[in-house]
Amino acid sequence: MRISGEHVSEDQYSKESMQRRLRDVRTRIERAVDHREHGEGEVELVAVGKTHPVEAMQQLYNAGVRSFGASYVQEWQRKAPRLPDDIRWHFIGRLQSNKAKYIADEVDLVHSVDRKSVSKRLNRRSEEPMDVLLQVNLGDQPTKGGVKSDKLEGLMDLVANYPKLRVRGLMGMPPYSEDPEDNRKYFRELRRALGRLQDYVEQKYPDRREGLEELSMGMTNDFEVAIDEGATIVRVGTALFGPRSYDD
Ligand SMILES: *Cc1c(COP(=O)(O)O)cnc(C)c1O
Repeated sequence: MRISGEHVSEDQYSKESMQRRLRDVRTRIERAVDHREHGEGEVELVAVGKTHPVEAMQQLYNAGVRSFGASYVQEWQRKAPRLPDDIRWHFIGRLQSNKAKYIADEVDLVHSVDRKSVSKRLNRRSEEPMDVLLQVNLGDQPTKGGVKSDKLEGLMDLVANYPKLRVRGLMGMPPYSEDPEDNRKYFRELRRALGRLQDYVEQKYPDRREGLEELSMGMTNDFEVAIDEGATIVRVGTALFGPRSYDD
């Protein structure tokens, strides 16, 4: 859903604009949670601030948001020191293995683990246990990260070799579509993939089964559908900050 009448303007990031958008997003989340078909418990709202000023992120923090998403290591390194240190940081972008050392132990949840080199470096660079999600490539998008959902068990076998990494669930991003209902089948695919992974882990790595519950899915255009299909984490940028001046 597009926010009607939204333009890039002087007051895009005013306190009032930030508060109003946050209120709208929270209302939409609550409504979706109340009516959802799948899932239980709270839905964590991750505010995705890429390209937006640190002051706008601070406004959301002041209004109670504690979870923020980082997409690029360098941008996060620039912004994080200027924001309060009780923020829960989610690394949601594509991760190059040579950058893993910067986020190991520094972010709270890495959403984009999809291969050996990244897992290995995260494991090696972490002192503390690190929570991660395995990224699934929904709809076979060649330019996007993630493994196909039928390759998850192989990825799990690999990550299971790394004692510091705790797999907490799955992340996925459907191909862009105007109509959020088009994405329902992908969210369903991710939910079912998590169910299969839980069974597999229960059998093969029973001590890793606890806490394997998260489904990070749903963005500005489709988070209500994602919540209906069982999302536990939604990653929302545009609906909170307004449009980005450039996109990735
Ligand atoms: C940018 C981004 C988002 C937020 O996108 P919006 O459509 O602006 O809500 C969520 N997840 C990932 C991985 C992103 O890169």
